[in-house]
Amino acid sequence: MSPSNPYGVLIDPHAPAAIADWLDLPATKDVYAVADVAEYLLDISTDLTYLGLLVDHIHVGTINRSVVDEPVKSLDAAAGQLLPGQPHYELVQWRCRTCDTRLWRIHVDPRDPPTCPNNCGRLYPHTPS
Ligand SMILES: [Zn+2]
Repeated sequence: MSPSNPYGVLIDPHAPAAIADWLDLPATKDVYAVADVAEYLLDISTDLTYLGLLVDHIHVGTINRSVVDEPVKSLDAAAGQLLPGQPHYELVQWRCRTCDTRLWRIHVDPRDPPTCPNNCGRLYPHTPS
């Protein structure tokens, strides 16, 4: 884990640059919480392989499912005392109507919709069918 990127353990430095799926989280230094949300999203979205990670609207790197699996499990073990009653996150999926990028957020203020990481403009809530 590099001091400049506390999320380094989650990040695949060899991930492709073009990312279609994003997880957008509020500012936090809690890599355990970030790992937890990322793992939850990967669990419920089995089609995801690469996930761009935005923390406080900054792209901190790209998560690769095959890289995450092991580190997240060891993080969970380290935080084992937190596991009973582990919260379930309400992740809301947003979609770009221009480039089909998907983005997930936990806390959503409808007056402040997220914007596309590819600079297409605002995103729209998406209900998986
Ligand atoms: Zn877009």
